[in-house]
Amino acid sequence: MDVALAALVFAPALALGSFLNVVAARLPERRSLVKPRSACPTCGSEIAWHDNVPLVSYAALRGRCRSCGTRIGWRYPAVELATALLIAASFLRFGLSGHALVAAYFCAALVVLSAIDAERRILPDLIVLPSFAVVLAANIALEPGRTVEWVACSLGASLFLFLALVAYPKGMGMGDVKLALLLGAGLGKAVSVGMMVGMLAALVFSTVLFARHGLGARKMYIPFGPFLAFGALVALFAGDAVLSAYLGLF
Ligand SMILES: [Zn+2]
Repeated sequence: MDVALAALVFAPALALGSFLNVVAARLPERRSLVKPRSACPTCGSEIAWHDNVPLVSYAALRGRCRSCGTRIGWRYPAVELATALLIAASFLRFGLSGHALVAAYFCAALVVLSAIDAERRILPDLIVLPSFAVVLAANIALEPGRTVEWVACSLGASLFLFLALVAYPKGMGMGDVKLALLLGAGLGKAVSVGMMVGMLAALVFSTVLFARHGLGARKMYIPFGPFLAFGALVALFAGDAVLSAYLGLF
């Protein structure tokens, strides 16, 4: 039954992913999310509805604008697909429940924040802080018995990154410190798994970068947000399994 549910939410989740692309492109520039209609950034021609179908249009147009032939960034289909898969996974994992809705929202927020951070190296407060408030309130409403955990894990994760920021200012920014609030509110104690996996992923990535580019890699900027988001998603869907496997080592 949950498989049917996951399949059912896939198409609307693709459409949501399409909207998240609009958010990622416009919100950091404080442009309206509803007007005007989407247009090609190069030639300015408006994009017809039939060229704006998630995934399908990108494939049909082979990733190019119909009018001018300019390449369309792969961020667009990637955000659509990631959003749809993660929201479907939320319903698959948590069934038809409040938990699935919170997980779906949490995933969508992490996708759009990762897209913005990868492209512009910022994590807008306008998304991070309201999402933190929404996710914290929803999780407290769903599981009031874990209120202390939701709050403590938000503050703890944020404080941890703040101390890391003080110790090593070049590694990250205040945006990451605020993002940790959202991660704690969404994950509770599994946030420890999320942070650990996120930092390991960033470490592996920078090691590969150093191996390929040598000392030149020191000048490359690596946004930390997408790695934290990746760790958080691992924790959301497999946090308990990772924690018990880890504790099982001792
Ligand atoms: Zn064009």
